[in-house]
Amino acid sequence: MVTLEKKPVPTTVLPAQPTEIAVMNPVTGQVIGSIPIMDAEAVRQAADRARAAQPAWEALGVKARATLMRHWSDMLWDDQKNAIAVIRRETGKTELGAWEEVAVIDTVVSYYYKHAARFLRPQTRRSAVPVRHKARVYYKAHGVAGFITPWNYPLNNAFIDLIAAMFAGNTILLKPSEITPFSAQYAVDLMYKAGIPKDVIQVVTGAGSTGAALVDVVDYISFTGSTATGKKIAVKAAERLIPCSLELGGKDPMIVLNDADVDMAATETLVGAASENTGQVCISTERVYVEDGIYDRYIEKIKQYASQLKIGSGDGFDVNIGSLTNERELLRAEAQVKDALAKGAHLIYGGKRRPDLGPLFYEPAILTNVDHSMDVMREETFGPIVPIMRVKDADEAIQLANDSEYGLSAAILTKDLKRGEQLATRIESGDVHVNTTHWIFGTPGLPMGGVKNSGMGRRNGPEGLLRFVKPQSIVIDNLLMQKPTLARVDGFMLKGALLLRRIRRAFPFLPLE
Ligand code: ADP
Repeated sequence: MVTLEKKPVPTTVLPAQPTEIAVMNPVTGQVIGSIPIMDAEAVRQAADRARAAQPAWEALGVKARATLMRHWSDMLWDDQKNAIAVIRRETGKTELGAWEEVAVIDTVVSYYYKHAARFLRPQTRRSAVPVRHKARVYYKAHGVAGFITPWNYPLNNAFIDLIAAMFAGNTILLKPSEITPFSAQYAVDLMYKAGIPKDVIQVVTGAGSTGAALVDVVDYISFTGSTATGKKIAVKAAERLIPCSLELGGKDPMIVLNDADVDMAATETLVGAASENTGQVCISTERVYVEDGIYDRYIEKIKQYASQLKIGSGDGFDVNIGSLTNERELLRAEAQVKDALAKGAHLIYGGKRRPDLGPLFYEPAILTNVDHSMDVMREETFGPIVPIMRVKDADEAIQLANDSEYGLSAAILTKDLKRGEQLATRIESGDVHVNTTHWIFGTPGLPMGGVKNSGMGRRNGPEGLLRFVKPQSIVIDNLLMQKPTLARVDGFMLKGALLLRRIRRAFPFLPLE
């Protein structure tokens, strides 16, 4: 008789779920700390605290909130040395780049400090029934607003939107990127020191699962990040019928016209595409269309200026290009260059890693002979890549500029400012710059946001504040000469309405509309 040997049944041991995420310094490749991964229950408890704190925060009034916010931004300004150090340690960006983050926060707070009370003031509108009715609009906070933010500008992108939400009287849950969480925590700690109550703003830490849990518990969700994640968040927000705004990717075109100042055009291209945050910007210049008549001179100049770019991790505002923050983006940029070269592009400058400076340093890659069959002209790039295409005229440039699934920012370089402004209106994007790039970011009065796959909603300006409130309309009838009636409109009112209609048509200048 054969006895079968009994083999032990293998038991599957599931790997323990990680409870923390390590955070790296991209310049040294070393771990600088870690953050806990908050689960759905922890996020819900934070939302409960935020919801309990909200009525008192709103009741404080916009002027008192503005005073606290301004105190915070002054403290941030005074502490900028530390702020810059915290930002640079987790991003590897240049000193100038980190300083710009502090400066932008300062200008946004200053703008709303001056204007928020006016934007939020209850308004009187024309009533349907003159004399008898008063029509008013009040602006009330949504409640708890959630913010899911990326790693490229860990201070700016975490706070630009939520500053407006706080002015408007919402309490805040902020989930910063797991790649750069410490800048947000630093600035929120500074808010507590400035006197803002702890439950008015809380940081929730973790990765995508924590972000997804956040969307389930807030009354408004503001997202800045990739288009793919933004779409998932929009679907979740739609299921809960909560309002959302999405600041997503871009593939921003620059058009260089024959009459452009060639030196300005070349340097602005390098600033817009490469030196501003090493190209890791949603509004960076990602494709350049150059008119035939200036093309050869422009190419010579851009090579000349590119060779003067200073790359490295050193201090000082004269360093132009820092480290990339995220290895995934370096790999994506390299893959785009490879795809372009395989399809016939020419690499006329750079395009090399610089391991002598750090693991994620990369020399700007300037490509010519590119076309729209290449990934580098269609997919978002988060690195210092400058693909340049020759075009016959402005019409062809605009047609190519609009041939994109994205529509965030754009630039036109020309000495004819009037023509530049007219052409700008033909570009499908949230903003257009004439003879410069990126200034939308530092101009808090201008609404900023995208069309097409670049997102929806606007940050900054009155629009950026008013998205964080729900208008409530109130109609007050003073009962003047009114008798009880079972009809909405009685004979007297009907005659009045017909008379009113004739007066409106005959005297359109009267304030009756
Ligand atoms: P990036 O490529 O810039 O990392 P992501 O869109 O992946 O862009 O991430 C931006 C932010 O969105 C980060 O804070 C990240 O943790 C968060 N996130 C990622 N996936 C989700 C998700 N499914 N739901 C909510 N938040 C998410």
